[in-house]
Amino acid sequence: MANFADWRDRMLRAVWRQGDDLPEEVSDWMSELYEEIGAISEENFCELWTSRTFSMARAAFQVVKDSAEEETRKKITGEEYCYIDYMIDPETGPVGVVRIKSEEVSTPDWEEILGTMAEGVQEFIMSHYRIVWPICETHRSGLHVGYFHGLSVWNCREGATGGHVVKAINPATCLQEGV
Ligand SMILES: [Zn+2]
Repeated sequence: MANFADWRDRMLRAVWRQGDDLPEEVSDWMSELYEEIGAISEENFCELWTSRTFSMARAAFQVVKDSAEEETRKKITGEEYCYIDYMIDPETGPVGVVRIKSEEVSTPDWEEILGTMAEGVQEFIMSHYRIVWPICETHRSGLHVGYFHGLSVWNCREGATGGHVVKAINPATCLQEGV
């Protein structure tokens, strides 16, 4: 597997991503790629990396948009609102950057992308409608994106224990009992 490790490091350098904190999902995807199509070039890898990040961003945006619209009864759209801005420029920074409001993500990791989309939609709802979304029903305060056991979640910072996990950002994901 020495060849794989060399290839992987070279590819990660090409997309400006450090290997040491690479999410397992991305690492697994890279091993599958290597097994299926071998040591492809940096250029080809950048294309695959970017298209994977973009398609995940579209899907994650849809998930967050649907739950935000259902809960706020407001449309997450509008002419002045360009919600996703793609950037590919290996000369100046990470490859395959997806921007939403002031947030950006450039790694094809589902939970990281979902968390970024959630922060972007939250920012849009605040700036466009002046509404705090989402809120904790118990404490009536705004929630913050966080990560819990590798899942992107909405956290509340209130309460006796100094905060609690309210729900997964993806409504289809069930958190374990006792959260
Ligand atoms: Zn709370």
